[in-house]
Amino acid sequence: MTAALLSGRELAATIRTATSARVSSLKTSGVHVALAVVVATDDESTAWYVRSLSKAAERVGIRSELCSLAATASPAEITLRLRALTARDDVHGVLIQTPLPAGCRLAELASAVPVEKDVDGANPASLGRLAAGLPAHSPATAAAVVALLEDHGISANGAHAVIVGRSTVVGKPLAQLLLARDATVTVCHSKTADLAGHTRGADILIAAAGQPGLITAEHVRDGAVVIDVGTNSTADGTLVGDVDPQVASRAAALSPVPGGVGPVTTALLLQQVVDAAAASGSVSTRSV
Ligand code: NDP
Repeated sequence: MTAALLSGRELAATIRTATSARVSSLKTSGVHVALAVVVATDDESTAWYVRSLSKAAERVGIRSELCSLAATASPAEITLRLRALTARDDVHGVLIQTPLPAGCRLAELASAVPVEKDVDGANPASLGRLAAGLPAHSPATAAAVVALLEDHGISANGAHAVIVGRSTVVGKPLAQLLLARDATVTVCHSKTADLAGHTRGADILIAAAGQPGLITAEHVRDGAVVIDVGTNSTADGTLVGDVDPQVASRAAALSPVPGGVGPVTTALLLQQVVDAAAASGSVSTRSV
């Protein structure tokens, strides 16, 4: 068996086209959609990512504003800046970029971003709303996994989904999104005993551990769907996922890295900025 390729590029292009049209339509009613990105690191790869996000935003007509703080900024300084940004009517979404300075925790800082402007679902209140089945912005990566599955006609309903990774950015919100779609969900992590024993039970296996090659053919049952969220840079600069290429000989379908979850994540993040702008300050974000 050779796994079908679950590309995210076509879906990302479709989302971008729809987003661009919504941005234009909002503009005609006087709303100029804008995203603010808060960065407090000297990390080069973060700078690269923020530049590419800003270009992607511009391409769909979203104004993006970079707010740079020192890599030594304190939680109080960052919170002050977040409060100033979120108070502005001309800023519809606020994104806090990681890594953060020592002593800062994303969940604590993101509490300063009201849920309606929390376009990447980083405020713990957004995660709580997801868990309660209330409308909220989901972290874009978790939402991208679900969108990728649905775009390829793969239903989570009744399926056993196994997620490897329990971060608040991917694993935990993804578990909520899949539960809301009637999957039976198992979440594994670094302390899970017999990882392969769990993952082999998966109809849908999602790898989000940030460990290159963690998921091998031994971890996958014949005919499973495998989504690779991992993005790991190798010594020669190549981007690889968490899934060993040999998994393709066992899985029915596999998402590539790059070109799978990644492009959908960026497209959905921008879509959520437009959702926030369209909602004009109410908490009527997209439902889970
Ligand atoms: P974190 O480091 O925050 O979380 C990693 C999770 O994986 C943790 O829960 C950890 O367990 C678990 N884990 C680590 N090693 C193992 C192991 N050997 N066996 C089982 N579980 C393990 O990472 P993120 O959630 O932020 O990101 C995960 C991956 O997804 C990364 O490669 C990241 O680059 C990528 N990513 C991709 C995005 C995209 O758009 N494509 C966007 C965001 C992230 P424990 O909790 O016990 O430590």
